[in-house]
Amino acid sequence: MNTQERTFSIVKPDAVAAGNAGKVIQLLTDGGLRPVAMRMMHLTTAQAEGFYAVHRERPFFKDLVKFMTSGPVIVQVLEGENAVARNRELMGATDSKKAAPGTIRALYGTDIERNAAHGSDAAATAKDEIGFFFSGAELATLG
Ligand code: ATP
Ligand code: MG
Repeated sequence: MNTQERTFSIVKPDAVAAGNAGKVIQLLTDGGLRPVAMRMMHLTTAQAEGFYAVHRERPFFKDLVKFMTSGPVIVQVLEGENAVARNRELMGATDSKKAAPGTIRALYGTDIERNAAHGSDAAATAKDEIGFFFSGAELATLG
């Protein structure tokens, strides 16, 4: 069965600022997720609020938006076998301090907020998040 799918990824401002973006992307690639679109950008407040709108009632929302707009990020579309779940596995738990050894968040995150990477949590979310940042014409076709 062909289970190739796409997911959406962000290398967050902490990882970019620390010079770890290349290493995060390499770990994802080595883990079987190929970038099919990639862009560096500095999120506006409106973009960060819109992207994380599902969390707008949470107590950490304001801080999260501040963090996500604190510096440039790298937004990516990744393709591979079970890409959504695979990306979450490679990132590790939300709280960097609890993330399994060797995962992106354990290696390059600091805590539950500054956690180096974002990954879509389901196929439907991935579709929405890809559409939020990329047009169809920007997505490379890998055959
Ligand atoms: P992401 O959506 O960024 O991939 P996630 O799905 O693992 O992360 P969510 O619950 O969706 O976790 O939270 C979104 C982001 O909000 C987290 O990645 C983290 O940066 C921040 N966050 C989550 N929980 C907290 C918290 N309790 N305190 C501070 N920040 C938090
Ligand atoms: Mg999430």
